[in-house]
Amino acid sequence: MGPPFHITMLFILSLLSLLSDPVFLTPIQNDAVFHYINDQQNEYIQRLKNWVAIESDSSDPSKRDQVNQMMEITKDYILNIGGEVEMAKIGEQEYSPGVKLPLPPVILAQIGNDKDKPTVCFYGHMDVQPAKKDDGWKTEPYTLQETNGNLFGRGTSDDKGQVLALLHAVESVKKFGLPVNVKLVIEGMEEVGSQGLEKLVEDKKDTFFSDVDYIVVTDTPWLSTKPGITYGARGNCYFMLEVEGAKRDLHSGGFGGTVYEAMSDLIYLLGQLVDVKGKILIPGVYDDVVPLTEQEKELYKNLEFSLDDMQADTGVKQLLHDTKAKILMHRWRYPSLSIHGIEGAFSGSGTKTVIPAKVIAKFSIRQVPNMNPSLIEKQVTDYLENKFSERNSPNKMKVSMVIGAQPWIADMNGPLYVAARNAVTKVFNTDADMIRAGGTIPIAKRFEEILGKPVMLLGIGGSDDAPHGQNEKISKYNYIEGTKLYASFLQEIPLV
Ligand SMILES: [Zn+2]
Repeated sequence: MGPPFHITMLFILSLLSLLSDPVFLTPIQNDAVFHYINDQQNEYIQRLKNWVAIESDSSDPSKRDQVNQMMEITKDYILNIGGEVEMAKIGEQEYSPGVKLPLPPVILAQIGNDKDKPTVCFYGHMDVQPAKKDDGWKTEPYTLQETNGNLFGRGTSDDKGQVLALLHAVESVKKFGLPVNVKLVIEGMEEVGSQGLEKLVEDKKDTFFSDVDYIVVTDTPWLSTKPGITYGARGNCYFMLEVEGAKRDLHSGGFGGTVYEAMSDLIYLLGQLVDVKGKILIPGVYDDVVPLTEQEKELYKNLEFSLDDMQADTGVKQLLHDTKAKILMHRWRYPSLSIHGIEGAFSGSGTKTVIPAKVIAKFSIRQVPNMNPSLIEKQVTDYLENKFSERNSPNKMKVSMVIGAQPWIADMNGPLYVAARNAVTKVFNTDADMIRAGGTIPIAKRFEEILGKPVMLLGIGGSDDAPHGQNEKISKYNYIEGTKLYASFLQEIPLV
């Protein structure tokens, strides 16, 4: 008589699990790659130092040569690690009326071209925000400096450090046999609106991008010290609300109490938009917001996020909501309305007694799936027109929506996200935070719309890197472990 049936089954099942265990299917062992990455740390930091030294500030036309130089250096490095590179020309930029500057070329690169392997296309950028020591930097912004485990310098986090981590990861995995084809789109105008990029992607849809299976943006921070994967971003509907009264500015001594004042009308209207708890008062605005599911609710439980830190960082006395989950939901998955400013209003110091003739308020609604910008435009316009006519002022009111950027949300259960989550677990021994951006990431939405392929944001920036501020940094930990994250991700992709 053989062993009892259930023992036999257990034996067969454990054999099967051995066979299906990814470790046995992976052509490369993570450990060997990780070991190699550890050995290269100093070289990785030196390369970042060299790249940070190039002042590739895309907002300053006098530094355009350095942006171009940065693109050349990136090209050379990709060639060096065995890639093919096309420097795609994307035309000119009219910098000011009549003054034209060629736009820096976009790098379209490919490493590996095996029809049997999946192709992952990574996006990043080589230009940086402006930086001067006088702005309040503790160190020279274009001289990388290591202090207490952090690498300070403009572009260390946004985005040179992240792109380099990816390139180093590709180079490392390639040493052992790259299990995917890698494509790269690296631009030099991201910080000033990615001029020319969208058209290039459209033009190359059926050529360069035709065999791309997945798109990964490597230009994003984590929520905390725990690795995060970004699967959504809010959109933005930006409004101008104009009220015009007199044909010129008046003096309150001569005209106060005799005319309908444009500013009073405007303040009244602004007061109708949102209540003290942040609830938007415009009818219908919440109608299309995707309902919260139990599965999504679960995700918020394990996120590492501190309300105390947020309060300390912002210096506010009290937040609008009292739990981590509610605060993050209101940042990521519910719309919000913010009032930004009033053009034409007296805003200097001192006591000017003007009655402004025409004032324009700026406010915006961060909208979320499945809100539709053109519907929001109509709801806002109808509501404000109603409120204004109720007020019975003879002044002229005009409302217009000047930006209508769509929100973006990905299927986080798709293979791309499973591969990234597995990679996070392997490198960091923890579950990834599944996060969204409260702001807008137009590139994610556009890539998805134009190419119809899944998009994910897998960055390695820290939550406190100050990417656009003074003293930008990336921690050495994020830079090196982030390299391993990309290396592991490249190996996980073919397994899902
Ligand atoms: Zn960036």
